[in-house]
Amino acid sequence: MIILLTPAATEGDLQELVQNLEDRGYGVHISKGVEKTIVGAIGAPDQDKAIIAEQLSSFDYVERVIPILKPYKIVSREFHPDKSIIRVGGVDIGGQKIVVMAGPCSVESEEQTIETAKAVKAAGASILRGGAFKPSTSPYSFHGLGEDALKILAAAREVTGLPFITEVMDTRDVELVSEYADILQVGTRNMTNFSLLREIGNSNKPVMLKRGMASTIEEWLQAAEYIANRGNYNIMLCERGIRTFETFTRNTFDVSAIPALFGLTHLPIVADPSHGTGRVHLVPPVARAAVVAGADVLMVEVHPCPEKALKDGAQSLTPDMFSTLMTEIGLCARAVGRFV
Ligand code: PEP
Ligand code: MN
Repeated sequence: MIILLTPAATEGDLQELVQNLEDRGYGVHISKGVEKTIVGAIGAPDQDKAIIAEQLSSFDYVERVIPILKPYKIVSREFHPDKSIIRVGGVDIGGQKIVVMAGPCSVESEEQTIETAKAVKAAGASILRGGAFKPSTSPYSFHGLGEDALKILAAAREVTGLPFITEVMDTRDVELVSEYADILQVGTRNMTNFSLLREIGNSNKPVMLKRGMASTIEEWLQAAEYIANRGNYNIMLCERGIRTFETFTRNTFDVSAIPALFGLTHLPIVADPSHGTGRVHLVPPVARAAVVAGADVLMVEVHPCPEKALKDGAQSLTPDMFSTLMTEIGLCARAVGRFV
């Protein structure tokens, strides 16, 4: 259930309520909005819920007690009616500005990464992406340079000032990747790796959770709840396409998920048209559609020489193509009252 406090509620009232709920066995999560404080009480025994709700309603600093019937609670819009803004290295994610993350699928060398970082920064990107630990459907594909790649990404950050996002696949690597990265990425293949989600939930690192390629929106939000439930609320959700019967595209980018999420959750929404389509000529139109549909962030793969890329060259934009795309999405952003 969520408990809405009155505007007059004091810090002491809040502490008293938290103690009361913890004594009853609830996990307590607090959301402080501009005008209101909301307390989420989660995970207590089902019995007597109605009675407890009635008792809590009688406190003079409690405005209302509302049951949350959905299977995800902390990430729901009810718990946090305002959109969440996540601050990463001076960049606000989830506000009026559409944030662009760009970079190669995989870190291949220091030269390739720094060249790409400089190019995407010059075109207006504010976060660098690059894979160090690469998930792969085939065990024979390139699996990334590991910690060496993290060092290269850190060097690129040093040169350009761009914070970076990179994927973590294993609970044993969360600490290592967190030492270097500004944002952790959970890839589509790990959306239901609950041990990994819990481990990330125990840290406070911003995390981008990609949609499982065969997951419903509700399953995806429950995966996010695993992270939030441990106390890490710095979560963004990334639509990267789902698997359908269509084979022309690598995945089917679900543009409708973006406005659907907007009504269900306060978490910032990222669109990844690169993995969502798998074809370079489809990336710009789908990126534009995602911005118009309400995405807060765009993630795009860029490579200085896509035909030589070790991974995902077919969906990687050249720096020139990326620069053109930035101009286009600037126009799209304006059309929906935002900016790039
Ligand atoms: C990636 O971002 O490079 C990646 C592997 O994405 P996904 O998990 O969406 O396939
Ligand atoms: Mn990729």
